Amino acid sequence: SETEENLISTIQEQVPVTIFKLLRRIGDLADEQKVNVYLIGGIVRDFILKRPNEDIDIVVEGDGIAFAQLLSAQLGGNVKSHEKFGTATWTNLDGLKLDIVTCRTEYYDSPASLPIVRPSNLKEDLRRRDFTINAMALQLNKSYFGTIIDFFQGREDIKKQQIRILHTLSFIEDPTRIIRAVRFSLRFKYELSPQTWSLAVDANSMLRQVSATRFLHELELLIKEGTIVAGIQFLEQLGVWSSLFDVKVNNEIISTLYQTDTEDPFHYIVALLFPSKNWRKASLRYALSAKQQSLLKQLEAIAKIETNSDLSVGELHKLFSVFNKENVAFYALLSGNRSLQNYVNKLNHIKPLLTGSDLIALGLDPSPKFSELLHQLYCLQMDDQITTKDDALDWVKTLL
Ligand code: ATP
Repeated sequence: SETEENLISTIQEQVPVTIFKLLRRIGDLADEQKVNVYLIGGIVRDFILKRPNEDIDIVVEGDGIAFAQLLSAQLGGNVKSHEKFGTATWTNLDGLKLDIVTCRTEYYDSPASLPIVRPSNLKEDLRRRDFTINAMALQLNKSYFGTIIDFFQGREDIKKQQIRILHTLSFIEDPTRIIRAVRFSLRFKYELSPQTWSLAVDANSMLRQVSATRFLHELELLIKEGTIVAGIQFLEQLGVWSSLFDVKVNNEIISTLYQTDTEDPFHYIVALLFPSKNWRKASLRYALSAKQQSLLKQLEAIAKIETNSDLSVGELHKLFSVFNKENVAFYALLSGNRSLQNYVNKLNHIKPLLTGSDLIALGLDPSPKFSELLHQLYCLQMDDQITTKDDALDWVKTLL
């Protein structure tokens, strides 16, 4: 029957022979220790989907840390353990890292807080996971090797191509799952189940309670998967942006987002907020790192400089060269200011004709005046008034 489905041959096809042997060895050891040991999470899902995945997550119904230590005693390598969480990472002699955890249940004190962990059995461990497709286990013990354990109909949801949470409070417990749902939905081209969809909409305001770090991390994962813009549009449909920032993501914003080319999720938040008047205030909560603070400060300062379209590129450079080039470019994108965009474009293409060593070769003594001189020269270059190195050298000579 389906509940007794065994994936031995699939595993054999999906992983290198060394890993297959290692998994069998772990199963043998589990029998010797009289504990149940399982593969769990994404790798089980990906075995069924026949997608590559070498993140080996193992759950032990028993003491996970002790089991990791036994593995390393028998097979070499080393173990790093976290007693508080009952978890360990075993790095084997090939440098392969396996995460080994003790079966656990988590209780949430208050919504969106860090869980309290206590030992439990497999079903309880699976129940705390995000979606049915991620909540399957595959037993490793010798006589059950390869058996799928699927309490929550994960395989059925794979067939239905849907992302489904395990219980109605799931998004309240951990609102970042809303963004995870979007990410898996876009990755596999699965729909959210109707109930999951409506519970995500109901819980969208809970994302306010998630720390900036966790929130931005989830967006970063969307960036890494190449689905950030689709993800932001999806989150718009779930009401996330209006609930968090009172922002409506229109086509203009979408077009800006498509042109936002960075690995830093904070830029996407700034782009979402830019058209609304209080973008800086609203995004302050998300400005954590020094780099992000500085981005906001500079954008604000740049916005204050009235750019008269009559200014030449060289004149713009006099105003904007004090700012970080990427920040000016980002502002140009956000504001749609053509002359600023043109300036940034030139900035990227025009290389300085002279450097400090050229000035020294001309017989000048190195001094702080060098940078002023080179800056002036560069402004002239930007306005196409000086285009060759010889002209540049002549220009310096006439100044002397
Ligand atoms: P990926 O293919 O992106 O690595 P994954 O399913 O392996 O996806 P991870 O983020 O590595 O995802 O998490 C491993 C497992 O831990 C998941 O499969 C899921 O069961 C569980 N998990 C991760 N994050 C959460 C969460 N926020 N809430 C509940 N369970 C989670």
